[in-house]
Amino acid sequence: MKLEIVIAGGGFAGAYCARSLSRALGKESIQRVGLIAEQNILVFQPMLAEVAGAMLSPLDVVTPLRQFCRGVNVLRGRIVEVDLAERRLILDAGRFTRNTEVEFEHLVLTLGSVVDLSRVPGMPEHSLVLKGVGDALKLRATVIDRLEEANLETDPETRKWMLTFVVVGGGYSGVESAGQILDLLEQVKGFYHNLQRVPLRVVLVHSGPTLLPEVGESLGRYAERKLRERGMEIMLNTRVTSMTSHRVFFDRGEPIQAATVLSTVGNAPHPVMVDLSHRAGLETYKGRIVTEPTMQVKGRQRLWAAGDCAAVPVNGQPASPPTAQFAQRQGKLLGENVARSLRGEKPRPFHHKNLGQMASIGQHMAVAEILGMRFSGFIAWWMWRTVYLFKLPGIQRKLRVMVDWTMDLFFPRNISLLLPWPTELVQEMHLEKGCVIYHAGEPAMSFYILKAGRIDLFEGDRFVRSVRVGQHFGERALLGDGVWHYSAMTAEPSTLVSVSRKAFRTLWEASAAFRQSLKVDPVFAEQGQAAPPTRVEANAGH
Ligand SMILES: Cc1cc2nc3c(=O)[nH]c(=O)nc-3n(C[C@H](O)[C@H](O)[C@H](O)COP(=O)(O)OP(=O)(O)OC[C@H]3O[C@@H](n4cnc5c(N)ncnc54)[C@H](O)[C@@H]3O)c2cc1C
Repeated sequence: MKLEIVIAGGGFAGAYCARSLSRALGKESIQRVGLIAEQNILVFQPMLAEVAGAMLSPLDVVTPLRQFCRGVNVLRGRIVEVDLAERRLILDAGRFTRNTEVEFEHLVLTLGSVVDLSRVPGMPEHSLVLKGVGDALKLRATVIDRLEEANLETDPETRKWMLTFVVVGGGYSGVESAGQILDLLEQVKGFYHNLQRVPLRVVLVHSGPTLLPEVGESLGRYAERKLRERGMEIMLNTRVTSMTSHRVFFDRGEPIQAATVLSTVGNAPHPVMVDLSHRAGLETYKGRIVTEPTMQVKGRQRLWAAGDCAAVPVNGQPASPPTAQFAQRQGKLLGENVARSLRGEKPRPFHHKNLGQMASIGQHMAVAEILGMRFSGFIAWWMWRTVYLFKLPGIQRKLRVMVDWTMDLFFPRNISLLLPWPTELVQEMHLEKGCVIYHAGEPAMSFYILKAGRIDLFEGDRFVRSVRVGQHFGERALLGDGVWHYSAMTAEPSTLVSVSRKAFRTLWEASAAFRQSLKVDPVFAEQGQAAPPTRVEANAGH
């Protein structure tokens, strides 16, 4: 696929860039511009905490990119690599599709940032995050699920553990999420008969001396006081040092027994951007790609960046704050600048004065710092709602949110537990004779062990060999380039045990015995390749 302009990322910066670029280019833009995003939605992240708190429906906070950016070609897929020298990127479009190569002349980078919790032992495995709609739904379901289980639990210690919720991070997403969790618990506790006299605990842990450093000390103190009055425990100047499924450990004080931990810390540069900046030698500032004020990547032609992944200098600072407010405005100007440069005109520098910050702290209260003025309590909450309603894209969504907010004033929150059970990592499956398990060239998703029957492997039409009961296959593709090299078909009715790619990698990295067993496997040997060494193996030699 070849496009003149590719916008990588469909968040605030990317979606608004696509919209303004398509307006500038007119009808031709659908042929010339592609917007690539991992999901086909623009997520209004500032409202995710309300989805987690069961106040808003998930559909209220998302906008389909195809409707929002009608004038551009939206390509749903995950960018796995960007090759600037060849001016192309590689796109993983999904489970049943081969990786696609997209060539471009202009590239706009708006991939945002990622969450990396790996610095705190136990945090990646044992804490929830809040970055997308799926995370918000998971948090909502987890809180409700804890109440359901605790309602049946008779051991007071276990019940206490189940009903302790720890939120790590005292920035706006941590404070807003902790406020929403508290609101949800308070509002719905009455429906759990056995929990009436049982205390619920919400603990907010922050490494700094005041909450909400974004809105200034006095409002941070106000938020702290109000949250404490509502019964929230707040630990300031405290860092989480590690966690297990049962306990959270700190650099000071006693550990806390908690079944649910939400981490709102750990923002990190996007791995695709890290890889690109290393390989192409791009200048970075705190992991963000350094641009000119026009959002052209420093020293590069036809390469642009904006939003959280870019360091766009503004108001004498080397990088604008990583907020939706800046990303959206940068995106809009960036679209216009790309159009200007296509017409041979000079792009314009980005200017924007921070209009302020706001955070809702639950129970119809908020804190806000707007154009240097500070507001708190109900009036700030009302302003918070008005501003966000105004910013939310689409009249239909605005109306829905207005209705949901109004309902929340009069009715209790909905505690239906909707999240489907997670997909099994190891599954048994039955197949009839002649079923194709996968075709050569498709992405490899599982490792298989044959429990009954027979599987034949083919290279094109050429029969390669059979896999017999007790043998396994798939490791070469999973450990290599991630693509099946042969096609596999059942030669008779068969039962397979499939192990997901993620579970397979975990076993592979953890167990030398497991790795050894794969290397001596006849199927593996016959495919003519020893298993490539992993990071774990390479380290083991030292
Ligand atoms: C819970 C939460 C609350 C927040 N609250 C506020 C707030 O109150 N006020 C405020 O101003 N800011 C807030 N923010 C910050 C704000 O949302 C971000 O600064 C803003 O979204 C950045 O916009 P962006 O376009 O740079 O990145 P994002 O909006 O993160 O968009 C990145 C895009 O890239 C796509 N993408 C990522 N990786 C790939 C890949 N490999 N291939 C293809 N596509 C990919 C994503 O799907 C997404 O479409 C909040 C953030 C969070 C998480």
